[in-house]
Amino acid sequence: MTAQLQAQSRSRTEDGAQPVISGRDLSMVYRARAGETVALQNATLTVAPGEFVSLIGPSGCGKTTLLRLIADLIQPTSGELRVAGKSPKEARESREYGYVFQAPVLYEWRTVVKNVMLPLEIMRFPKAERQERAERLLKLVGLQDFGRRYPFQLSGGMQQRVSIARALAFDPKLLLMDEPFGALDEITREAMNDELLRIWQETHKTVVFVTHSISEAVFLSSRIVVMTPRPGKIERVIDVDLPYPRDESVRQSRRFFELTTEVRDALKGMH
Ligand code: ADP
Repeated sequence: MTAQLQAQSRSRTEDGAQPVISGRDLSMVYRARAGETVALQNATLTVAPGEFVSLIGPSGCGKTTLLRLIADLIQPTSGELRVAGKSPKEARESREYGYVFQAPVLYEWRTVVKNVMLPLEIMRFPKAERQERAERLLKLVGLQDFGRRYPFQLSGGMQQRVSIARALAFDPKLLLMDEPFGALDEITREAMNDELLRIWQETHKTVVFVTHSISEAVFLSSRIVVMTPRPGKIERVIDVDLPYPRDESVRQSRRFFELTTEVRDALKGMH
Protein backbone atom coordinates (compact mmCIF):
# COMPACT_ATOMS: atom_id res chain seq x y z
CA MET A 1 0.00 0.00 0.00
CA THR A 2 1.35 3.45 -0.80
CA ALA A 3 1.83 5.94 2.02
CA GLN A 4 -1.02 8.05 0.67
CA LEU A 5 -3.46 5.17 0.49
CA GLN A 6 -2.38 3.97 3.89
CA ALA A 7 -2.96 7.43 5.35
CA GLN A 8 -6.30 7.73 3.57
CA SER A 9 -7.52 4.34 4.69
CA ARG A 10 -7.54 5.71 8.22
CA SER A 11 -9.67 8.67 7.23
CA ARG A 12 -12.93 6.95 8.08
CA THR A 13 -12.78 6.60 11.80
CA GLU A 14 -14.40 3.50 13.24
CA ASP A 15 -17.31 5.33 14.83
CA GLY A 16 -17.65 7.63 11.82
CA ALA A 17 -16.46 10.67 13.82
CA GLN A 18 -15.34 13.67 11.83
CA PRO A 19 -11.55 13.78 11.48
CA VAL A 20 -9.75 16.53 13.37
CA ILE A 21 -7.34 16.95 10.45
CA SER A 22 -8.05 16.05 6.89
CA GLY A 23 -5.36 17.00 4.38
CA ARG A 24 -5.27 15.91 0.77
CA ASP A 25 -2.49 16.40 -1.76
CA LEU A 26 -0.95 19.22 0.23
CA SER A 27 2.00 20.91 -1.37
CA MET A 28 4.00 23.86 -0.17
CA VAL A 29 6.55 25.60 -2.35
CA TYR A 30 8.57 28.44 -0.82
CA ARG A 31 9.65 30.97 -3.39
CA ALA A 32 12.70 33.06 -2.67
CA ARG A 33 15.11 35.02 -4.83
CA ALA A 34 17.57 32.14 -4.66
CA GLY A 35 14.96 29.77 -6.09
CA GLU A 36 12.12 27.49 -5.10
CA THR A 37 12.00 24.95 -2.30
CA VAL A 38 9.42 22.20 -2.45
CA ALA A 39 8.99 21.87 1.31
CA LEU A 40 6.04 19.51 1.01
CA GLN A 41 4.80 17.50 -1.95
CA ASN A 42 1.37 15.88 -2.22
CA ALA A 43 0.99 15.03 1.43
CA THR A 44 -2.26 13.30 2.32
CA LEU A 45 -3.05 12.71 5.96
CA THR A 46 -6.11 12.22 8.12
CA VAL A 47 -6.04 12.40 11.89
CA ALA A 48 -8.97 11.08 13.91
CA PRO A 49 -10.15 12.54 17.25
CA GLY A 50 -8.00 11.42 20.15
CA GLU A 51 -5.07 10.20 18.06
CA PHE A 52 -1.46 10.93 18.95
CA VAL A 53 0.34 11.34 15.63
CA SER A 54 4.04 12.08 15.35
CA LEU A 55 5.77 13.55 12.31
CA ILE A 56 9.33 12.31 12.12
CA GLY A 57 12.12 12.85 9.62
CA PRO A 58 15.47 14.57 9.13
CA SER A 59 15.79 18.36 9.09
CA GLY A 60 14.22 19.92 6.03
CA CYS A 61 11.66 17.20 5.27
CA GLY A 62 8.71 19.54 5.84
CA LYS A 63 7.56 18.60 9.35
CA THR A 64 7.29 22.18 10.59
CA THR A 65 5.77 23.22 7.28
CA LEU A 66 2.99 20.64 7.68
CA LEU A 67 2.35 21.78 11.26
CA ARG A 68 2.29 25.44 10.19
CA LEU A 69 -0.17 24.65 7.41
CA ILE A 70 -2.50 22.99 9.93
CA ALA A 71 -2.13 26.05 12.19
CA ASP A 72 -2.86 28.45 9.29
CA LEU A 73 0.45 30.21 9.90
CA ILE A 74 1.13 29.61 6.19
CA GLN A 75 -1.19 28.61 3.34
CA PRO A 76 -0.57 25.68 0.98
CA THR A 77 0.47 26.18 -2.63
CA SER A 78 -2.04 23.48 -3.54
CA GLY A 79 -4.20 20.82 -1.92
CA GLU A 80 -7.12 20.71 0.48
CA LEU A 81 -7.00 20.98 4.23
CA ARG A 82 -9.72 20.90 6.90
CA VAL A 83 -9.08 21.33 10.60
CA ALA A 84 -11.90 20.37 12.98
CA GLY A 85 -14.18 20.33 9.92
CA LYS A 86 -13.35 23.97 9.10
CA SER A 87 -10.92 25.84 6.90
CA PRO A 88 -7.57 26.32 8.69
CA LYS A 89 -8.34 30.05 8.98
CA GLU A 90 -11.71 29.41 10.63
CA ALA A 91 -10.13 26.81 12.89
CA ARG A 92 -7.44 29.30 13.97
CA GLU A 93 -10.01 32.03 14.57
CA SER A 94 -12.17 29.75 16.68
CA ARG A 95 -9.08 28.58 18.60
CA GLU A 96 -9.42 24.92 17.75
CA TYR A 97 -5.74 24.28 18.42
CA GLY A 98 -2.98 25.13 20.86
CA TYR A 99 0.61 25.40 19.64
CA VAL A 100 3.73 24.48 21.60
CA PHE A 101 7.09 25.58 20.20
CA GLN A 102 10.54 24.13 20.75
CA ALA A 103 11.42 27.01 23.07
CA PRO A 104 8.91 27.73 25.84
CA VAL A 105 8.57 31.46 24.85
CA LEU A 106 7.50 32.68 28.28
CA TYR A 107 7.41 36.30 29.40
CA GLU A 108 10.14 36.65 32.00
CA TRP A 109 8.44 39.54 33.80
CA ARG A 110 5.18 37.66 34.31
CA THR A 111 4.68 34.97 36.90
CA VAL A 112 3.97 31.41 35.76
CA VAL A 113 0.23 31.72 36.42
CA LYS A 114 0.15 35.05 34.56
CA ASN A 115 1.91 33.48 31.58
CA VAL A 116 -0.80 30.82 31.42
CA MET A 117 -3.51 33.49 31.73
CA LEU A 118 -2.09 35.72 29.00
CA PRO A 119 -4.08 34.33 26.02
CA LEU A 120 -7.26 34.52 28.09
CA GLU A 121 -6.45 38.11 29.04
CA ILE A 122 -5.96 39.00 25.39
CA MET A 123 -9.36 37.51 24.58
CA ARG A 124 -10.85 39.42 27.54
CA PHE A 125 -12.00 36.46 29.55
CA PRO A 126 -13.36 37.55 32.96
CA LYS A 127 -10.72 37.62 35.69
CA ALA A 128 -12.27 34.86 37.82
CA GLU A 129 -12.43 32.51 34.85
CA ARG A 130 -8.83 33.27 33.85
CA GLN A 131 -7.70 32.50 37.35
CA GLU A 132 -9.74 29.33 37.60
CA ARG A 133 -8.57 27.98 34.23
CA ALA A 134 -4.92 28.82 34.81
CA GLU A 135 -4.90 27.15 38.20
CA ARG A 136 -6.63 24.05 36.86
CA LEU A 137 -4.13 23.83 33.98
CA LEU A 138 -1.12 24.29 36.24
CA LYS A 139 -2.45 21.42 38.33
CA LEU A 140 -2.85 19.33 35.18
CA VAL A 141 0.83 19.81 34.29
CA GLY A 142 1.95 19.24 37.90
CA LEU A 143 2.92 22.85 38.64
CA GLN A 144 0.20 23.85 41.10
CA ASP A 145 2.82 25.02 43.61
CA PHE A 146 4.79 27.13 41.13
CA GLY A 147 2.21 29.64 39.88
CA ARG A 148 3.74 32.58 41.76
CA ARG A 149 7.29 31.88 40.55
CA TYR A 150 8.92 33.55 37.56
CA PRO A 151 10.06 31.53 34.52
CA PHE A 152 13.78 31.92 35.36
CA GLN A 153 13.14 30.10 38.63
CA LEU A 154 11.99 26.98 36.74
CA SER A 155 13.97 24.22 35.01
CA GLY A 156 13.72 23.78 31.21
CA GLY A 157 11.26 20.90 31.58
CA MET A 158 9.08 22.90 33.97
CA GLN A 159 9.09 25.89 31.61
CA GLN A 160 7.91 23.65 28.81
CA ARG A 161 5.08 22.39 31.05
CA VAL A 162 4.01 26.01 31.49
CA SER A 163 3.86 26.45 27.73
CA ILE A 164 1.77 23.26 27.43
CA ALA A 165 -0.62 24.64 30.07
CA ARG A 166 -0.82 27.93 28.16
CA ALA A 167 -1.50 26.11 24.87
CA LEU A 168 -4.46 24.42 26.58
CA ALA A 169 -5.90 27.72 27.88
CA PHE A 170 -8.81 27.76 25.42
CA ASP A 171 -9.40 24.03 25.87
CA PRO A 172 -8.69 23.30 22.19
CA LYS A 173 -9.44 19.92 20.59
CA LEU A 174 -6.02 19.82 19.03
CA LEU A 175 -2.51 20.29 20.35
CA LEU A 176 0.22 21.01 17.79
CA MET A 177 3.70 20.46 19.20
CA ASP A 178 6.87 21.35 17.30
CA GLU A 179 9.77 19.46 18.91
CA PRO A 180 8.77 20.65 22.36
CA PHE A 181 11.35 18.54 24.18
CA GLY A 182 14.17 18.82 21.63
CA ALA A 183 16.27 21.08 23.85
CA LEU A 184 15.97 18.92 26.97
CA ASP A 185 18.44 16.30 28.18
CA GLU A 186 17.49 12.65 27.62
CA ILE A 187 16.34 11.95 31.19
CA THR A 188 14.18 15.07 31.42
CA ARG A 189 12.82 14.32 27.96
CA GLU A 190 11.69 10.85 29.00
CA ALA A 191 10.06 12.28 32.12
CA MET A 192 8.26 14.84 29.94
CA ASN A 193 7.15 12.07 27.58
CA ASP A 194 5.55 10.23 30.52
CA GLU A 195 3.93 13.47 31.62
CA LEU A 196 2.61 14.30 28.16
CA LEU A 197 1.03 10.86 27.77
CA ARG A 198 -0.69 11.29 31.12
CA ILE A 199 -2.03 14.72 30.07
CA TRP A 200 -3.13 13.35 26.71
CA GLN A 201 -5.00 10.49 28.33
CA GLU A 202 -6.64 12.72 30.93
CA THR A 203 -7.78 15.36 28.44
CA HIS A 204 -8.56 13.21 25.35
CA LYS A 205 -6.92 15.79 23.09
CA THR A 206 -5.72 15.06 19.59
CA VAL A 207 -1.97 15.62 19.32
CA VAL A 208 0.26 16.22 16.30
CA PHE A 209 3.85 16.10 17.48
CA VAL A 210 7.03 16.88 15.54
CA THR A 211 10.20 15.09 16.59
CA HIS A 212 13.62 13.94 15.41
CA SER A 213 13.72 11.18 17.96
CA ILE A 214 12.70 7.68 16.90
CA SER A 215 12.29 6.39 20.45
CA GLU A 216 10.25 9.42 21.47
CA ALA A 217 7.93 8.94 18.46
CA VAL A 218 7.41 5.24 19.18
CA PHE A 219 6.87 5.76 22.89
CA LEU A 220 4.26 8.49 22.47
CA SER A 221 2.37 7.83 19.28
CA SER A 222 -0.59 5.86 18.10
CA ARG A 223 0.68 6.53 14.56
CA ILE A 224 3.95 7.75 13.12
CA VAL A 225 4.18 9.68 9.88
CA VAL A 226 7.66 9.13 8.44
CA MET A 227 8.80 11.97 6.19
CA THR A 228 11.74 12.25 3.81
CA PRO A 229 13.32 15.41 2.30
CA ARG A 230 14.01 16.87 -1.17
CA PRO A 231 11.15 17.15 -1.82
CA GLY A 232 9.52 16.84 1.59
CA LYS A 233 6.98 14.05 1.49
CA ILE A 234 5.23 11.41 3.51
CA GLU A 235 7.22 8.23 3.07
CA ARG A 236 5.18 5.90 5.25
CA VAL A 237 2.63 5.82 8.03
CA ILE A 238 3.30 3.30 10.78
CA ASP A 239 0.69 2.16 13.31
CA VAL A 240 2.11 1.80 16.80
CA ASP A 241 0.30 -1.14 18.37
CA LEU A 242 1.81 -0.78 21.85
CA PRO A 243 -0.92 -0.64 24.48
CA TYR A 244 -1.59 2.46 26.57
CA PRO A 245 -0.90 3.44 29.30
CA ARG A 246 2.79 3.18 28.48
CA ASP A 247 5.53 3.08 31.06
CA GLU A 248 9.19 2.13 31.39
CA SER A 249 8.46 -1.55 30.67
CA VAL A 250 7.20 -0.51 27.21
CA ARG A 251 10.55 1.14 26.46
CA GLN A 252 12.26 -2.15 27.24
CA SER A 253 9.87 -4.42 25.35
CA ARG A 254 10.70 -6.41 22.24
CA ARG A 255 7.85 -4.75 20.32
CA PHE A 256 9.28 -1.30 21.12
CA PHE A 257 12.59 -2.40 19.66
CA GLU A 258 10.88 -3.83 16.54
CA LEU A 259 8.94 -0.61 15.97
CA THR A 260 12.01 1.63 16.38
CA THR A 261 13.77 -0.56 13.80
CA GLU A 262 10.79 -0.25 11.45
CA VAL A 263 10.79 3.56 11.75
CA ARG A 264 14.57 3.69 11.27
CA ASP A 265 14.31 1.58 8.11
CA ALA A 266 11.49 3.75 6.77
CA LEU A 267 13.62 6.84 7.37
CA LYS A 268 16.32 5.27 5.26
CA GLY A 269 13.75 4.72 2.53
CA MET A 270 13.77 0.95 3.01
CA HIS A 271 10.52 -0.99 2.93
P1 ADP B 1 11.65 20.40 9.05
O1 ADP B 1 10.67 20.95 10.04
O2 ADP B 1 11.37 18.98 8.68
O3 ADP B 1 13.08 20.59 9.45
P2 ADP B 1 10.78 22.62 7.38
O4 ADP B 1 9.33 22.43 7.17
O5 ADP B 1 11.22 23.61 8.40
O6 ADP B 1 11.45 21.20 7.68
O7 ADP B 1 11.47 23.01 6.00
C1 ADP B 1 11.31 22.27 4.81
C2 ADP B 1 12.13 22.93 3.71
O8 ADP B 1 11.57 24.21 3.42
C3 ADP B 1 13.58 23.17 4.08
O9 ADP B 1 14.37 22.97 2.92
C4 ADP B 1 13.60 24.63 4.49
O10 ADP B 1 14.86 25.21 4.26
C5 ADP B 1 12.54 25.23 3.61
N1 ADP B 1 11.87 26.38 4.23
C6 ADP B 1 11.19 26.38 5.40
N2 ADP B 1 10.65 27.58 5.67
C7 ADP B 1 11.00 28.38 4.63
C8 ADP B 1 10.74 29.74 4.29
N3 ADP B 1 10.00 30.52 5.08
N4 ADP B 1 11.26 30.22 3.12
C9 ADP B 1 11.99 29.43 2.31
N5 ADP B 1 12.25 28.14 2.57
C10 ADP B 1 11.78 27.61 3.70
